[in-house]
Formats: sequence, C-alpha cells, structure tokens
Amino acid sequence: MENILKGKTTALIDMDGVIYDSMKYHTRAWERLMKEVGVPCTAEDIYLNEGMTGPAVIQLLYNRALGHGVSDERADELYALKTQYFKEIGNNDPMPGTDRMLRALERAGIRRVLVTGSSQASLIDNINKDYPGAFQPGDRVTAKDVVHGKPDPEPYLKGLAIAGVPAEEAIVIENAPLGVRAGKGAGIFTVAVTTGPIPREAFEREGADVVFPSMPDFADYLDSIC
Ligand code: MG
Repeated sequence: MENILKGKTTALIDMDGVIYDSMKYHTRAWERLMKEVGVPCTAEDIYLNEGMTGPAVIQLLYNRALGHGVSDERADELYALKTQYFKEIGNNDPMPGTDRMLRALERAGIRRVLVTGSSQASLIDNINKDYPGAFQPGDRVTAKDVVHGKPDPEPYLKGLAIAGVPAEEAIVIENAPLGVRAGKGAGIFTVAVTTGPIPREAFEREGADVVFPSMPDFADYLDSIC
C-alpha cells in the first residue's frame, strides 16, 4: 500500500468506536430508552446509524415503527434521557491501539482534530485526561458545533475549516459507515477501521479508501511508516 500520509498534514478523527470503545454502551443505553417508550431498536440499528445526531436517530426509529416522528422538544427530551443512561452504564474505555495510532500521527507531524457527532460530555471531557496532548484545545468539532451531523459532510468540512487546510491535505479516521459517507462527501481520503460488528463490505460500499480490520492493525501500519 502506498504511504497514505503522503502530502497529508491533518487527521480528522471520530470519537465513538475510534477514540473510545464506547459503542457497546451506547447500544445498551439506546435499547433501554427505546424499550421504555415501546419503539423497536436493535443493536444493528445503532451500529448502522452511528454518526447521526441523537435526535435524528430518535426520529428515524419512531418513523420506522409508527410512520411519524416526534416533536423536536420530545426528541431532545428523549435524547437527554439516553445521555443520562449512557453516563450510568458506560465507562470511558480507551480503544485498544488508539493511543499508539495517535502517537504515530504525532511523530509524523500530523495535526489531530476530533470530529464527533456526539455531545456526550462524559466522554468528550475525558479525552485530555485519557490521551494527554493528543488534541490541542479548540481542535474539535462536536454535535454542538453542527446543524446536520453525519452522514452530512458538514462535521468534516468544519474540521477542515478549524485546521485551515484543503480536503487534499487531510485524512478521516472512522469506524462507522455513515461517518465514511460524511468524510467522502467532504472530499477527504477516508480510512475505515472496523472496531465493531459491521462487515468491511459496508465501508467499501460507502467508498472508504482503505479498510483496516482493527485499530491495532491500523496502528501497526502507521508505526511501519512513521
Ligand atoms: Mg464512530
């Protein structure tokens, strides 16, 4: 494989399933919430729609089950509950291999910008503690900064704007098919790392430029070129 960092200055890095091994907890929090309101929701729903904002997921699940959504206020209320459940259920488990991946990028002089569709403060606020120096202050896009969220390219376009670089100088690091779609929609070379149950074909369908089977595999690759 050609050196994927050639000509690159910036890595736009997703959080859930990339920085933190958190998708299992998100899934349980969603299942608990949707069970309470009587709307079907499977783990696959959550993995396949990862990257969308919380309220957008709620609208999708309601529409599918009942043929109509809920008010914006109700969606926000339900998402606040889901956020609370995640905080109760979840731990901020660092993704195995990610620390090594981030340090390799740092050695290569690649600026790291966090780009997450999440507003989960219980994770976002811990990144500097769990990964000291990995991200400079202000080098982050969260759900609070965007209108559309993934799979819209907006979050990654905002990441480019923060770094002040053109798409050609960046790479995206994602674990979710809709995140890959967002990265490609922004015109950026997109690396998919399969850190969950989604098969690699799902990432190839979205146009991922390269797919690594695990985070340690991606870190091994970076260690070999940086
Ligand atoms: Mg993710």
